[in-house]
Amino acid sequence: MQGQSNSAEAPVVAEMSGIVKTFPGVRALDGAQLTLRAGEVHALMGENGAGKSTLIKVLAGIYQKDGGEVRLHGDLVSFDTPRAAQEAGICVIHQELSIVPHLTVAQNIFLGREPRTALGLLDEAALNARAEKILASMNLDIHPKADAGNLTVARQQMVEIAKALAVDGRVLVMDEPTAPLNDREVAELFTIIRGLKAQGVAIVYISHRMAELPQIADRVTVMRDGAWIGTVGAEAPVSEIIEMMVGRKVEVKSPDIPDLSNAPVLLRAEGLKVGRRVRDVSFEVRAGEILGFAGLMGAGRTETARLIFGADAREAGRIVVHGREVDIRSPADAVAAGIGYLSEDRRRFGLAIGLSVAENVALADLGRFARAGIVNGASIRQTAREMIGKLRVRTPHENQEARLLSGGNQQKVVIAKWLLRECDVLFFDEPTRGIDVGAKSEIYDLLRNLAAQGKAIVVISSELPELLQLSHRIAVMCEGRLTGVLPGGPRTTQAEIMALATAQATPILEGVPA
Ligand code: ADP
Ligand code: MG
Repeated sequence: MQGQSNSAEAPVVAEMSGIVKTFPGVRALDGAQLTLRAGEVHALMGENGAGKSTLIKVLAGIYQKDGGEVRLHGDLVSFDTPRAAQEAGICVIHQELSIVPHLTVAQNIFLGREPRTALGLLDEAALNARAEKILASMNLDIHPKADAGNLTVARQQMVEIAKALAVDGRVLVMDEPTAPLNDREVAELFTIIRGLKAQGVAIVYISHRMAELPQIADRVTVMRDGAWIGTVGAEAPVSEIIEMMVGRKVEVKSPDIPDLSNAPVLLRAEGLKVGRRVRDVSFEVRAGEILGFAGLMGAGRTETARLIFGADAREAGRIVVHGREVDIRSPADAVAAGIGYLSEDRRRFGLAIGLSVAENVALADLGRFARAGIVNGASIRQTAREMIGKLRVRTPHENQEARLLSGGNQQKVVIAKWLLRECDVLFFDEPTRGIDVGAKSEIYDLLRNLAAQGKAIVVISSELPELLQLSHRIAVMCEGRLTGVLPGGPRTTQAEIMALATAQATPILEGVPA
């Protein structure tokens, strides 16, 4: 399935060595290196903030390096602009896609290099014909005249790859391409990547999904704290790669399942209903408990959480907090009742990315920091510093813009906001999506600590190993219904969860077949 052997002797296309890059207060790259051979898929791994994107941006002429060498086909090069790098055959598909909406697919593919007629006018016919040819070579049935903004993220990504092919890219960098894709889209992307490999393109592949490595990568370079740690074959054991990434052994813990039979039920949901998305869902969570929610995309887990949080209106059902029914009609009602919800899209809902860490912390609870309408800046910064210490947020200082933090550290800021609100029941929706292994295990520890402090924690996650190692019990949903509740930890297998998630098993409630 993989092309390990054929690329080992292949010529070196690009070589970066001793790369140094500093930003105010941050040494983002400190002796980074990367060697790319023709026809290889080279995975670039490292925790959030390790410097992967910065290294790629140096290669692509977006950032100017402060030290080190970049060679292309053996010659020293220095790209002052992205355009110069592109002309040398280096194409990058960034985490933030650069598709221009309202332009057609063909216009996007040839942006800035549109074919012209002899009179210097835009040659529409040639533009569309060439785009069609490239798309066909990728086996894509995307129409060249389609509005690129209307395509799915997966297809927009394909258009970006087409853009690289249009300039005959020799190096193609993909920064976390599979993060927004579903399984079928990932398979399609891998087919296209294999096609590019066969054409001798050197591909740099950044991803947090360890499971993808043996499927697609030939070699793996690991970075940590801006430095090169090592380059190994993709067949290296996952545990070895993780250890290189985090610089220590990361153990997979099983939950210590406490006896909670005497712990008070903090939240009980009864017969929640919204159309077909949430159908008669009932469950309870006790103080000190971590309840996992498993299910496929669209199973109704997020919808259930949103109902309880008052973000959507429910058609039926009761919500009981601390034994008392509460009438939750808005998120403000939920927060007043002591319920918090960390949404899956932290960038859009959880974090004001243009504001500083301290300002984000302040937004959690302005009332707390304001007396007689005057906001106390010193007290905000003090609280923010405490939170940074407590949650081990990696940031040079509390006034750093949230935008500049890595994903794991942004997530910690969102958690800090909710901790300040002192909720008793906290819903975490995909709390570790897009976060690397090291930050993940820190977030697990945080959730365990919150439960140990007597909070009721609900974790919605699509990663079964995560649910199994974190949850005391796992509720499984399928097509809007709760199909079972299983014990967490080693007693339950992923297959048992999947059977309930796909409605292949008889529903089980509280361990007893219904
Ligand atoms: P990765 O892609 O591996 O997650 P990055 O290359 O994005 O890591 O970041 C490396 C480090 O550089 C991080 O500490 C990050 O906060 C910092 N950083 C990245 N870009 C900037 C920038 N434009 N200004 C200041 N700091 C930055
Ligand atoms: Mg990055």
